[in-house]
Amino acid sequence: MIPLFEQYPDLQRRLAYVPLGQFPTPVQRLERLEGYAGSGRIYIKRDDISGESYGGAKLRKLEFLLGAALQARAKAVLTFGYAGSNHALATTIYARKLGLQSILELLPQPNAHYVRTNLLAAHLFEAELHYYRNPLLLALGTIRDLLKHKLTDGKFPTLIRPGGSSPVGATGLVNAAFELRNQVERGILPEPDRIYVALGSMGTAVGLTVGLRAAGLKSQVVAVRVAGRAFVNERTMLRQLGELNRFLHARDPSFPMLELTLADVEIRHDFYGRHYALFTDEGMEAVALMKQHEGITLEGTYTGKTLAALLADTEHRERDQSRGSVALFWNTYNSRNLTADVAGLDYHRLPRPLHWYFEHDVQPLDTLDPGSIEGPDGD
Ligand SMILES: *Cc1c(COP(=O)(O)O)cnc(C)c1O
Repeated sequence: MIPLFEQYPDLQRRLAYVPLGQFPTPVQRLERLEGYAGSGRIYIKRDDISGESYGGAKLRKLEFLLGAALQARAKAVLTFGYAGSNHALATTIYARKLGLQSILELLPQPNAHYVRTNLLAAHLFEAELHYYRNPLLLALGTIRDLLKHKLTDGKFPTLIRPGGSSPVGATGLVNAAFELRNQVERGILPEPDRIYVALGSMGTAVGLTVGLRAAGLKSQVVAVRVAGRAFVNERTMLRQLGELNRFLHARDPSFPMLELTLADVEIRHDFYGRHYALFTDEGMEAVALMKQHEGITLEGTYTGKTLAALLADTEHRERDQSRGSVALFWNTYNSRNLTADVAGLDYHRLPRPLHWYFEHDVQPLDTLDPGSIEGPDGD
């Protein structure tokens, strides 16, 4: 049984859930990266290997989101993302495993190798792909697609919010915090002082924060913003924290109403750079350091920026007291390599406007050749 349901049996009765991943994900100490950073202890939570065919933290959300779609007897799920969205791809892969069609409504983003891989993989796993120049056109197209599927399937598709960041989805990360507490209790790692996680559509950081407090851990979440400030800020963070907490309390009154404030989760704005999915020098340096010292593959949109914040803090802290401090890097990225699966696919089979990503250069900082990246190091 998953740790959240062990603690709150009423939640098990009230929430749909379908197991998709391999949990608990391992925790490892990154001694070689510590040696480079020079002070403090650094651990990693390996959510990148949460799934046999495709990993990442999105799987935790999908166990609840797709569970709810199955319970609603949906035939299809419809979700949103930027062209290279890991969330859209993860939804497609796991929806298909469950016999559900996926419909993806996508928006433009800066070009990168992973965008090409994710688009081809979404096609390989039979997603219905739609692409729009702007959010207004996306809204209109989504209404069209919902109606179209109502006519052909006899049912509306189940909607999944961008990034899967609804209370239902974020519940997967509440469970992750209880999973982490079990690992702390078993001595696999000390209770972290700080937990670094990327902040995109916010559900990951929101779920972890609510879960850590409910689980009685004192770790501070450091949420490294990687998306625009208009949607990702202190106000929207507090709103999502409250929304998730009320959702869980309503389904199991023994789940506490927590007094969550911005002392529980710090938003870091200083590693974002200029745009969503536009890589930064510090972020790509962090990606290279993780590869070189630990053999683990990160990327420039989320996890590189997040590790850059962790490393910068570690260097600053060296001068003050916190030599023994423990930082946990939550690896939210999928590290199962899909490039071989999509190698033979022709991008001309994608909707025509998406060909742009294959016919134009990737951004200058995207220097990693995905063909040369090995899979996870297997331990
Ligand atoms: C989606 C995603 C995140 C961020 O999670 P949110 O819940 O959207 O904030 C972090 N890392 C990777 C690799 C992701 O795909």
